[in-house]
Amino acid sequence: MSQECIFCKIVQGLIPAKKIYEDDVVLAFHDIRPQTPVHALVIPKRHLVCLDDLGEQDRMDAGHLLERVAHVARELGVAESGYRTLINTREHGGQEVDHLHVHILGGRRVGPMVCR
Ligand code: AMP
Repeated sequence: MSQECIFCKIVQGLIPAKKIYEDDVVLAFHDIRPQTPVHALVIPKRHLVCLDDLGEQDRMDAGHLLERVAHVARELGVAESGYRTLINTREHGGQEVDHLHVHILGGRRVGPMVCR
């Protein structure tokens, strides 16, 4: 856990979040500023800053995280219509919160990937 990390505080229940799913390894909750009708975040409970923090020892947890992303998307009812997943990494990737997270964006058709 990181003392300053907002997502670690959500994991610890120190700040509120609209939780969707939780197990020993991951937590899913609704994004506070949704970009699409369905916008969820799935995070590892353990503090990993970004994708670049993952090592060989994290393969099991990383696989679990990805499988749970698909599970959460089904729970949210967007699996059939489809959704976009997004992981931003560090400054050039547009990462704002320094705790690894997977965005699930759905509920409407999203545009083609445009990098500005
Ligand atoms: P990123 O730019 O990939 O780091 O995205 C961070 C995301 O976290 C943004 O979409 C924010 O709206 C979201 N966010 C920040 N604080 C909170 C919070 N307290 N609860 C839920 N989502 C949050």
